[in-house]
Amino acid sequence: MVETCVVVGAGVAAFGFVNTIREAGYQGRVVLVGAESVLPYERPPLSKQYLTGRKDEDALLFQPVSFYEERNIELRLGTPVEEIDLQRRVVRSADGNELSFDMLVLATGATPNRLPVPGAELAGIFTLRSLEDARALRAALAAAERVVVVGGGFIGCEVAASARTLGKQVALVETLPVLLGRALGVEIGSAITRVHERQGVALYLGRRVVGIEGRERAERVVLDDGTTLPCDLVVVGIGVRPVLPAVVGDLRFDDGVVVDATCATNVDGVWAAGDVARWWHPRIERFLRVEHYDNALAQGAAVAKAVAGQPEPYDAVPSFWSDQYDLTIQQYGYPVEWDEVVVRGDLDEPAFTAFYLKDGRVYGAVIVRWPREMRPARRLVEQLAQVDRTLLADPSVDLRQLLA
Ligand code: ADP
Repeated sequence: MVETCVVVGAGVAAFGFVNTIREAGYQGRVVLVGAESVLPYERPPLSKQYLTGRKDEDALLFQPVSFYEERNIELRLGTPVEEIDLQRRVVRSADGNELSFDMLVLATGATPNRLPVPGAELAGIFTLRSLEDARALRAALAAAERVVVVGGGFIGCEVAASARTLGKQVALVETLPVLLGRALGVEIGSAITRVHERQGVALYLGRRVVGIEGRERAERVVLDDGTTLPCDLVVVGIGVRPVLPAVVGDLRFDDGVVVDATCATNVDGVWAAGDVARWWHPRIERFLRVEHYDNALAQGAAVAKAVAGQPEPYDAVPSFWSDQYDLTIQQYGYPVEWDEVVVRGDLDEPAFTAFYLKDGRVYGAVIVRWPREMRPARRLVEQLAQVDRTLLADPSVDLRQLLA
């Protein structure tokens, strides 16, 4: 009997998996079951080049269908899984079909949070996660003049930048006092906030949306201080949460599917990768859940090796980039609370590298307009380097000298 490996989800992590599984030597049957009806595609351009019309759908696919055929990967797209039964070892999809598995890979990703306010169900309110979301938003943007973005995280900032690039009037509402504050902290977040200000985004910081009004469509966004923002459309980017179909059986789930350093769950032969996985990071000895593209691809590949019988500790340094206007923000590192941020360069320009230190070690780095620093900064994070902060802050000191 040939063994069957079922992958639930057909997004970025699932692609990382299928891209590696045959090369890793696995000869069993592989079935990809995904809710979306498109082949796996790249999500990062959705809020950037796709939204601004510089990239079209065809350019987003990782691979054409022939790639899957050549690797003998069965695709069941447009068929959301409704239940995973870990006792009988079957997945049941919405069309009623059951599929038995020996090995199971959970790559179901995450879903955008909704605004918990009256009016949130009106037409003209968008989230941005899937290609379908992006299609709808791109079409609506073409006909809109005034855009309100709710949430100043990466999605909100990228959408605001894209909408400005398209010449729209943009207002952005964020509960924290700066943009990107959660990911980057106040100091670096302020630098990016100034960029959006200079680009003409009307910022409503430290504010919360309390309601959205309109007859059928969203016409006004109401803030907690009574401010009313007239709008043609609203984009909500207030974070995502991991998603999983109903599970029968005892799978550890705690803000994500909990897995060990090899991405194995507590159930034999069941693995998780990507935005849905909370894994034990052996290098920093904590559980992490990371919502980045690079991680989904690499973790999917790591699970492929594990399924093929060569499990290894997955200890990648999380890595992420964001394009906003003509800026690229490159980030390496671990999402842990830091004690101190050390900046070299110019926050106002902006052109800088910022290091996030905890217990005197480099846990993270953010690089803006300083490509030469990317490699050594990444190495410092990989090494969790213990460095002299005066040297680190001095832009005339070559970072390579600080590497162990
Ligand atoms: P995303 O991936 O959607 O960008 P993040 O969690 O990085 O998610 O960012 C979401 C941002 O939205 C955070 O900066 C958070 O402070 C902000 N936020 C969350 N809820 C609200 C809200 N109700 N109104 C305005 N901003 C919000």
